[in-house]
Amino acid sequence: MALDAGSTCPNRDGTRGFGGCAFCDVEGSGTGAVRSGTELAEQLERGIRRVRRRDAEPGVIAYFQSYSNTYVETARLREVLSVVEPYLADPIVAVSVATRPDTLSEPALECLSELSRRVAVWVELGLEAADDRILEAIHRFHTVDEYRDAVRRSQAAGLSVIGHAILGLPGDGREGARRTARVMAETGVEGVKVHNLMVLRRTRFERDWRAGELEVLDADTYVDWLADFVERLHPEAVLHRLTADAPLAQRLAPRWDVHKNEVRERLAAELERRGTRQGSLYRAPSNPAASGRVPEGPRAQAR
Ligand code: SF4
Repeated sequence: MALDAGSTCPNRDGTRGFGGCAFCDVEGSGTGAVRSGTELAEQLERGIRRVRRRDAEPGVIAYFQSYSNTYVETARLREVLSVVEPYLADPIVAVSVATRPDTLSEPALECLSELSRRVAVWVELGLEAADDRILEAIHRFHTVDEYRDAVRRSQAAGLSVIGHAILGLPGDGREGARRTARVMAETGVEGVKVHNLMVLRRTRFERDWRAGELEVLDADTYVDWLADFVERLHPEAVLHRLTADAPLAQRLAPRWDVHKNEVRERLAAELERRGTRQGSLYRAPSNPAASGRVPEGPRAQAR
């Protein structure tokens, strides 16, 4: 259940940059619920009512999606997280907190770690592409090493990490998809979210795309690169997402609409055609202690 805590991020307020990442819209890659007047507690309450209408015993993931959720004072982070308290026994089964690698202070980690003693907590860290030149070109303004460090510190605090990647960023190419997967594997993240680049309205990429300076992947190419990506992940990393969805009213490109299940099926067919599977090309890091991964499988299962 996607939630908007009305935060911001250092890439918008000038701390690291202005105007945001080239792919991100004014809603901070989220729902925009706060801007449209729905307070956080109300978003959660409404969402839970909605899923309970569909399912008598739902398991809900409270997903703090918009902006950089740890880029706030610790007191505010505590206040934000407190909205899940009434639902921890039922129906919330996990809390997922999206943020940037450069906004994870020790007090924020401590706060998340405290919550993780009562419910599964996932820190979703945007890497997007494992190449500092690409990160700079898309106005991301953090580095791959900052991502590595954030994964290490999150895992040391007992938290599970989901790495977020985008395939098809300009200049990144097929080798970029492979490189990003290798960094995900090497850092030992427990989960991965990946999707193809989309051009949304009111983003920097809108301007580039309208000027004919930006192309996006077609569905066949995406599935091909996705297979490369998945082959290089840790075999037991959980794939939380393989596609992104933005309504056609907001999305300029691509215009192809392949349902999530279809992408999953096409990926499975491509891996079968190659005779490979997730992790077939995984290479264990030379220094496993640096990755934080428990050798026999994801920490989320080991705890
Ligand atoms: S993607 Fe995240 S870091 Fe980038 S502008 Fe959007 S909210 Fe900020």
